[in-house]
Amino acid sequence: MNQTKALTEFNLGASLGEAVLCMQGSRLDQELTRIAQTVVNSPDVRFVPQLTAAVSAEHERCHVSAEAFYVLSGKQGMYSETDLAKLRMLAQLTGKLLAARTQLDQRFKASAEAQLQQSQILDQIHESVITMDLAGFIISWNRGAENLFGYSANEAIGRNILFLYDEEEADGLRLFDSFLENGGREMEVRRRKKSGEVFWASLSLSPLCDSHAQPIGMIGYLSDITERKRAEEQINHLAYYDLLTDLPNRTLFKKLVDKALLQSQRNNSIGSLLFIDLNRFKPINDTLGHAIGDLLLKQVAERFRLALRENDVIARLGSDEFAIGLLDIPQDIHAGLVAQKLLTTLDQAFWVEGHELRIGASIGISIYPQDGMEADQLLQKSDIAMFKAKRNVERASGSYAFYDNEMNRTIAGRLYLESGLRRALQHAEFSLLYQPKVNIVTGQMIGVEALLRWNHPKKGMISPAEFIPVAEETGLILQIDAWVLETACEQARQWQEMGIAPFRIAVNVSAKEFTSTLPSRVYEALAQYQISPAWIELEITESMLMHSAESVITIMDEIAALGVTLSLDDFGTGYSSLSYLKRFPIKTLKIDRSFIQGVPSDTDDCSIAGAIISMAKKLRHKVIAEGVENWEQFAFLKDAGCDEIQGYLFSRPVSSDQITEMFARDFHFSV
Ligand code: C2E
Ligand code: MG
Ligand code: MG
Repeated sequence: MNQTKALTEFNLGASLGEAVLCMQGSRLDQELTRIAQTVVNSPDVRFVPQLTAAVSAEHERCHVSAEAFYVLSGKQGMYSETDLAKLRMLAQLTGKLLAARTQLDQRFKASAEAQLQQSQILDQIHESVITMDLAGFIISWNRGAENLFGYSANEAIGRNILFLYDEEEADGLRLFDSFLENGGREMEVRRRKKSGEVFWASLSLSPLCDSHAQPIGMIGYLSDITERKRAEEQINHLAYYDLLTDLPNRTLFKKLVDKALLQSQRNNSIGSLLFIDLNRFKPINDTLGHAIGDLLLKQVAERFRLALRENDVIARLGSDEFAIGLLDIPQDIHAGLVAQKLLTTLDQAFWVEGHELRIGASIGISIYPQDGMEADQLLQKSDIAMFKAKRNVERASGSYAFYDNEMNRTIAGRLYLESGLRRALQHAEFSLLYQPKVNIVTGQMIGVEALLRWNHPKKGMISPAEFIPVAEETGLILQIDAWVLETACEQARQWQEMGIAPFRIAVNVSAKEFTSTLPSRVYEALAQYQISPAWIELEITESMLMHSAESVITIMDEIAALGVTLSLDDFGTGYSSLSYLKRFPIKTLKIDRSFIQGVPSDTDDCSIAGAIISMAKKLRHKVIAEGVENWEQFAFLKDAGCDEIQGYLFSRPVSSDQITEMFARDFHFSV
């Protein structure tokens, strides 16, 4: 009981204290009334400062001090003892606090006359001068302050200085304590005018003391320094930005890169610096003049800027040299892709004042952390790499080279694959093989998976595992997968014409291709070859489910609505959320080959495969195991309840003719 009382008094004391310290005049009265109403739980309680009160006889009063009291209007006799006790306690506390406040005020009054003189002097001062008490409440406000802030003295006096603060700075008053200790301070601050405009001001604060040298408040001198700030910013801009292109200059570039390097050390991320030197710029500048040269440089900068992402930094180092920082890239090889993209922006001619101008670029690339961890060092290495690129004169738009020779070899290999892929489609170097999917109980071939093969004219067969990633990065995958889907449909049509009942031909879909246009592309392929949707199944990988599940579900639903089934390939390698899994219209889960490999000797693989099978059953999905190579695996999977299997045990991927032959004989695998 005592504890509760103490607690109530404490809370009340704290809120009253705040009210008294933060407000004055009618705002304070209102706040005290509000507190009293909450405490007594009645709207009829009011705080009355005696100066303004005209109190009638029927009011019961609870005195606070000689100057103020609480009234319980018209409620005489209706208050319980507890209410009255609360009210008395409230009165006592208010009394104490008001007394403290009066003491404070008296100290000011002592210097009131002096202040009056002061304020006359202050009004002559052009600067704004504001005095406030220790809690930050404004006591005087000169004409300079009126002019600067737009508030009249009447509007400002009595309010807390915080109302002038820019929101960002409003953690305010704590500053005063340290300032009082240090005896004054000068600073640059942001303040808000009555019009709402925020401006820069220089503020000098000094303590205001009474005759005993005790601080009783503060005096602040403010002047508008917006203009100076603007000039400073301009100077800053000149120091860090290139005048012609408005891109960061070398100094800022190095600062930004060094900052990114620190960050990258913490996150173990990788990045890259590109050094770009334009080819054939000098003759243009020399023959057509600098004005044209400048305009051309501006256009080049703009094309580069548009080709980059927001997080990339581009700078002009001087004349026709640019630098680019790719400050966070997933793989070093991506720097090559960006360089390629930048070169492509130069393919189109530039038009400058009626002149059709063509230029190229040589791009040198350094990678961090492998080539260094300092901006200077990396810039130097990319500069060296740029000279390597200059030696390559094959392409008009230029070329790029890495500082690291190993990277150059990797890139060369990749470029070889890339150019080969572009040619492969036209030269019919692709073909499809089909691998049977087998019912684990009956041995019946219930479908096939279409697997892409590339017969390279020089290198022979290249595995899709090798070229699909390149095709995905270059965007060629869209054409390739379209070719696969069409070829599978064409094959289905042939089998249909042979009188073979529909079985599922599973086509792999790359993540890049899994977009909102996929359903219509599938529909068109089915319509073109006039085959039933029962012929086609799409294998998508688990990683596709991870981004923006909602749009993925929409696409899947549209495909399912066509009558085409979906299965989830490489299951177990991603991290799909199980709760999502039941929302996807998926028919079959395909356990990834990596988990089948260790079955039945590796207990972990067995538990994972077993868990996937039982989970699939619970979600009423079918489950197929891929990469089954021996009978031990077969037996384990059969026991665990797996529905279908695919693997070398029954058949490697084979030609369509071999599949035709199996169907013609109504072939069953022996199980
Ligand atoms: P995937 O879709 O998981 O295909 C299964 C891969 O496992 C195939 O390799 C298949 O030949 C192989 N495989 C099947 N049974 C066994 C077995 O018992 N043992 C072993 N060691 N391997 C087996 P492949 O044909 O090299 O394809 C590799 C990957 O390339 C495919 O993995 C798929 O992700 C991708 N891919 C293949 N064709 C296409 C295509 O047309 N389009 C797209 N986007 N990707 C494709
Ligand atoms: Mg597959
Ligand atoms: Mg797979």
